[in-house]
Amino acid sequence: MKYKIDLHTHTLISGHAYSTIQENVKAAAEKGLILLGISEHAPKMPGSTNKIYFQNLKVIPREMYGIRLLFGVEVNILDFNGNVDLDDEVLGDLDYAIASLHPPCIGFGTVEENTNAIIGAMKIDKVKIIGHPDDSRYVLDYEAVVKAAKENNVLLEVNNSSLSPNSFRINAKDAYIKMLEYCVKYEVAVIIGSDAHISFDVGNQEYAVKLLEEVNFPEKLIANNDLEMLFRHLNVQN
Ligand SMILES: [Zn+2]
Ligand SMILES: [Zn+2]
Repeated sequence: MKYKIDLHTHTLISGHAYSTIQENVKAAAEKGLILLGISEHAPKMPGSTNKIYFQNLKVIPREMYGIRLLFGVEVNILDFNGNVDLDDEVLGDLDYAIASLHPPCIGFGTVEENTNAIIGAMKIDKVKIIGHPDDSRYVLDYEAVVKAAKENNVLLEVNNSSLSPNSFRINAKDAYIKMLEYCVKYEVAVIIGSDAHISFDVGNQEYAVKLLEEVNFPEKLIANNDLEMLFRHLNVQN
């Protein structure tokens, strides 16, 4: 395992994922991760949970099987202004939010609409990561997205699941090649996320690492590489 941090994982609570928190943490421990983030889908994803779930996470230990845990959420961007499906009060209690475009929650817009949606979501305080900005059904203006990520201090994800051969997202690799060029140009950091929906995929970064190596992406712009930088970025205590 090249990087020991994974902040994008789902459990049974998300409604279309198949392991428990403990199963995910055990898998992470076996793979040698040091930090695991649980980021369930927010309420507008069909079959996911409700806001009370996110308000009760304090009952879960912040360390399990020797691994530090963070509790976040993957919010759904709901409109082309970037509004999402949890309010600031609920988000305030979480360690971080990933904001993503998902087909059941928002339609496929024009380049301008999709780009506005992503940039609008970046302005929400807790949104620290944009999830899988790689789906050609949501065409993006990558230069604008990358510049806004820098301005709003948000990480852009390189999503391992999108790059997997059986992904339902389309042409992610080509999208990432464009995005990564701008990340180098404007010095914007990315974060690899497994987007695991089962414990076996926790920490899986195989395809993302391969792509980043292929394009010679600089290590200093990979947030999984530097725990201190990541904690500073998320504004959580080390
Ligand atoms: Zn997602
Ligand atoms: Zn996800």
